[in-house]
Amino acid sequence: MKCKTCGSEHCADFSGELAIHFPGLENLSKPHVFIAAELAVCLQCGRAEFAIPNDKLRQLMDSSIRKEEINGRSKFAKAGNN
Ligand SMILES: [Zn+2]
Repeated sequence: MKCKTCGSEHCADFSGELAIHFPGLENLSKPHVFIAAELAVCLQCGRAEFAIPNDKLRQLMDSSIRKEEINGRSKFAKAGNN
């Protein structure tokens, strides 16, 4: 694999766990979304890529939509994502 940022071929795959937090003070009490993912890491510049599993992506989307609905707007609806 070649790094999309620096073009280096010094990349490696790792397993990792991530806790995704929702931004903003209003979301401090919202549970994190934990993800176990395969990470593709550039050992030259540190760029990392991973795919979020569909069930976790749905959790992120649902929480984001609720926030947008509370604020009176829905960017996901406008963007055509379900
Ligand atoms: Zn790189």
